[in-house]
This record gives sequence, C-alpha cells and structure tokens, in this order.
Amino acid sequence: MTATTDTADVVIIGGGVMGCSIACNLALTAHRHGLRRIVLLERDTLGSGSTGRSSGAIRMHYSTAVNAELAWRSLNIFRNFGEIIGGDCGYTETGYLVFAGADDLETFRGNIATQQSVGVITDIIGAGDAAALAPGFVVEDAAAIAYEPYSGHADASGTAYAYATRARAEGVNIRLQTPATGIETSEDGSRVTAVVAADGTRVETGIAVAATGPWSARFLTSHGIDAPLVATRHEVLHFRRPLDLVPHHPGGADIGNRIYFRPEGQELTLVGNGNHSDVVDDPEVFAQRASPAFIQDIWQRLAQRIPPIADAELAAGYAGLYTNTPDSHPIMDRIEGIDGLYVCTGFSGHGFKLSPMVGVLMAELIGDGQASTMDISPLRFSRFAEGALNTSGYGFDVLA
Ligand SMILES: Cc1cc2nc3c(=O)[nH]c(=O)nc-3n(C[C@H](O)[C@H](O)[C@H](O)COP(=O)(O)OP(=O)(O)OC[C@H]3O[C@@H](n4cnc5c(N)ncnc54)[C@H](O)[C@@H]3O)c2cc1C
Repeated sequence: MTATTDTADVVIIGGGVMGCSIACNLALTAHRHGLRRIVLLERDTLGSGSTGRSSGAIRMHYSTAVNAELAWRSLNIFRNFGEIIGGDCGYTETGYLVFAGADDLETFRGNIATQQSVGVITDIIGAGDAAALAPGFVVEDAAAIAYEPYSGHADASGTAYAYATRARAEGVNIRLQTPATGIETSEDGSRVTAVVAADGTRVETGIAVAATGPWSARFLTSHGIDAPLVATRHEVLHFRRPLDLVPHHPGGADIGNRIYFRPEGQELTLVGNGNHSDVVDDPEVFAQRASPAFIQDIWQRLAQRIPPIADAELAAGYAGLYTNTPDSHPIMDRIEGIDGLYVCTGFSGHGFKLSPMVGVLMAELIGDGQASTMDISPLRFSRFAEGALNTSGYGFDVLA
C-alpha cells in the first residue's frame, strides 16, 4: 500500500446522518468561515451505522428545553428540506400522540410546558379527540394525551444521502470504505495535525470531527479520551395491521407501555421500545434480527394500545445500535486540550430528528468558534465530570 498525503481544512470522521449534515452545513457556510476543503471519511457506506436502522420518528416530546428546541428547529428544516438542502428527506406529516399514565402525569405536564416555552406546537387533548385521530386505539386509560400536529417521520438514510449529495455538490470530498485509524497531534499533543486512514492516506488538517456513532467510545478511547458512551442494541418490528379496523394512525409513544410506534407506508405499523437493550462491545458484531422474546413482548404491549394489532401479521424485524450517554443527551463539543478536535455523538435512540440542527450548530461551533443559533452548553462534554447531567424526565428512553 502506498501512503499518500493530502490536505484539508476539516476532516469529518463518520458518514451517518450527523457527519453528512455537518459536512453539508460546513460547506454551505464556507463563505463565512473560509473552511472550504472538507473531507468526510466513512468506514463503510453512508448510513451503514445507526442511521440505516433508524425508525425515523420525528416528535417534539422531550424533557429538556435543549432537545425540544433542537427538534423543533429541525422540524422546520425537514418540512422545507427540498428548498433548504435539496433532494428528498421523505418527511411525512402524520401528527404524533403521546399517552401518559397517572404515575408520569406531573413530569408529562412539565415537559409539555417546557416544549411550549421553546415554541413547540403541542397540547394536551381530550380522549374523544385522540380517538378520532387514531381509530382502533384504546384511549380511555390514559391520564393525559398530548398531540403534536406537525410531527411525523422521515427517511433517515435518504436524509443522510440528501445531505451528502448537496455536500458533494458544494465540493466536499466523501470517501467511502475508508476507515480513519488515527488522529495525529502536534508533538506536545495540544492540537490536531492530521487524520490517518486505513488505506494509508494521511490527510493533513487542523480540524477533525468524530461523528462516529456507536464506534465513538472505541475511537475516542484509542486517542486517550474517556467518554461515557455505551453502544446498545435495540429491536424494531413492522406489523401488517388489519386495515378495516385500523385504517390509518398517527405516530406516537405510549409512556406506560414503553413503546413508540408510527405508520410505515399505507399498511404497516412500526414499533420499537424503550426498555429492552443489550450492551454491545463491538459495533460490528451484534445480532441483526429481532428475537422471539422481544417479538412476543412488544406485540402484546402494542396490542394493549391498539387491540387489532393482536391479529396483525409480522412483516419485518431487525436490530440497530444506539449510542447512549448517562443522560441520554448527545455530546456536541470541542475537546479541551486538543485544539481542532470536535465530537458529535451520543444521540441515543433519538438523534435522527435532531440531525438538521446538529449540522447547523456544529458548523457554527467549528467555523465561527461558537454555536450562535441556540445555546448548546447543556450538551458540553464536561457536564459528566461536573455532575451537571440533563434531567431525563421519565427515567428511561422510551421515545425514539
Ligand atoms: C433501531 C433504531 C431506531 C431509531 N429510531 C429513531 C427515531 O425514530 N427517531 C430518531 O430521531 N432517532 C432514532 N434513532 C437514533 C438515530 O438513528 C441516531 O441517533 C442517528 O442515526 C445517529 O447518527 P450518527 O451519524 O451519529 O451515527 P451513525 O449513523 O452510526 O454514523 C456513524 C458512522 O461513522 C462511521 N464510522 C465509525 N467509525 C469510523 C472510523 N473510524 N472511520 C470512518 N468512519 C467511521 C460508521 O460506519 C457510521 O456510518 C434510532 C436508532 C436505532 C438504532
């Protein structure tokens, strides 16, 4: 193998939806900051990590203002994706229902108020209105139901490709099947000098961005950076529902039953959960298919909310990896002590819906020196050492 040397202003490591969004947004703002030579290295193919398994749900129901605002601002981009980025992100507006039980009522109401405080259109609705939106659903047992009329879902892989397509059109050099094997620093370790790839390429650069999804813990540890990141495996099922009884339904989450769901096409209902997860040591080795125990359990839980699902046909099942942090909030920050090194990871099971704004804000942080469109300090790396975790609301990660 012949080693080649290249130069770039920025090297982004990882071609999931985050890396592609960052690359595109950096390229679109290059006139402002002058970082024009942008390289993205992807170890496999675009979207081959978490992005390719994402359920694509887009909802605003979060416990913290920072996540709710990220989701709300991102929704505006999803809804106008063709004009802002170009291409098709597959955004489908279905509306989104959130069912809360009595135990979660106080947290639920507080969350709705937080979401409304950052501009999210959401409100608590009556059981009758929920029944009209979701024929075939059980609604009477819920202590409260929230409705987000503009939420829905989009195509996570398609979104990543659309960002990559626009990035390429703006001059970004995207190299597939090119794992980054190392980040080189100056002799005293104080600044980034190059990113090295498995094919022997050495890209001299002052800026490296790790957007490496479930590989992040391993990648950062190999550079002496100890981040509290854990890859966990989560399963998703698709059911072919009885259309005479449940002709259509919005997306939604059932906090008590710890499931989220959404329509997939005209006939299928997609369901995932917030409480089954296995820690995975090697992101390249995990069981790809749904397990019988999960199928049985989640089928029953979904049927509690949508009884006709008991007679549905199982259409598909698969698993993917989340990248969890201790507070289920991402890390979007520079690494103190190594100038030019940035991380953007830890999006747990809900990063896709944030990806449009993640790109905007990381481009501001990298290009301008700080994120200006909104305050992302709650997502700083140092919060773990400071014990300043974001409150996770329900205490589990039910909502995708
Ligand atoms: C089953 C499942 C359901 C989900 N459902 C939803 C949902 O409904 N709504 C929602 O908002 N979010 C959801 N998510 C979460 C969302 O998909 C993720 O938060 C998001 O895709 C993370 O994107 P990423 O770019 O950070 O990571 P990834 O998509 O994993 O991308 C990281 C990329 O980095 C590459 N890489 C790693 N190491 C290297 C290296 N050394 N060199 C080069 N490349 C490297 C990988 O190959 C990979 O392509 C779900 C996730 C899963 C798994």
